[in-house]
Amino acid sequence: QPVAIVCVGMAGSGKTTFMQQINAYLHRKKEPPYVINLDPAVLHAPFESNIDIRDSVNYKEVMKQYNLGPNGGILTSLNLFATKVDQVVGLLEKRIAPDPANPTRKPIKHILVDTPGQIEVFVWSASGTILLESFASAVPTVVAYIIDTPRTSSTSTFMSNMLYACSILYKLKLPMILVFNKTDVKDASFAKEWMTDYDAFQAALAEDEDRNAFGGQEGEGAGTGYMGSLLNSMSLMLEEFYAHLSVVGVSSLYGTGIDEFFEAVQEKAEEFKRDYQPELEKRR
Ligand code: GDP
Ligand code: MG
Repeated sequence: QPVAIVCVGMAGSGKTTFMQQINAYLHRKKEPPYVINLDPAVLHAPFESNIDIRDSVNYKEVMKQYNLGPNGGILTSLNLFATKVDQVVGLLEKRIAPDPANPTRKPIKHILVDTPGQIEVFVWSASGTILLESFASAVPTVVAYIIDTPRTSSTSTFMSNMLYACSILYKLKLPMILVFNKTDVKDASFAKEWMTDYDAFQAALAEDEDRNAFGGQEGEGAGTGYMGSLLNSMSLMLEEFYAHLSVVGVSSLYGTGIDEFFEAVQEKAEEFKRDYQPELEKRR
């Protein structure tokens, strides 16, 4: 059974570049994926799509016709596209089913989905939810949360990003892989350490607090002041969150870490079948 990988992440985190890299990787392995582009505003996608939102909605026209700014234009385009979700899933199901007329046709193993640059348009919109639920009811679906590693290297941006990832996990209710991207600029080992070693994160917090006199008085270290104790409680909560995640470091520019990513996909696809599918069926 194929698995769908939905790439989400902040604007500029590298979703599209990551898509391009995993697409090229699968082509090299002679396992061409089925590719869906849901970003109406991308100018030139660096990969070929089987289904492209831009084929059915013209984002620029939508902006003009409804007198919208860029974000409203993207959201409205996604809404218009979501009204055709049955056709989209129909096409997908037709392609992944065996074809009696063509028994030698290679089965599809992966479905790759790119989403709009601005994460909230997809994650916090009704149409995003409709699209995602439709995919998840057709095939095991996992979320790849792409993170701009160099921009997440201070304790406070790291914490904000992890809280955001946690809220997305809670909202989407699908297995999630954290993809620390751009490791060619900054290695992801600090993040992996902070996620597995509470003391290491506490030490980094203390250091950053000393530097910024963030909450508390300068030199007091972690755990003092309002922000200090808030951060402490949040990191305890996040420990539970981390326990349910797969974490990989990749460079979408150079293609490093992609093998590891696909191992995580396998693991999360199993988790989907075991834990999520029964839930989805109950809800239907
Ligand atoms: P999206 O908005 O999430 O789709 O992000 P893009 O894929 O368009 O990438 C945003 C910027 O980050 C582009 O300038 C990319 O070239 C750059 N980028 C993406 N992945 C990497 C990476 O692994 N390493 C480096 N150094 N830059 C990257
Ligand atoms: Mg993009």
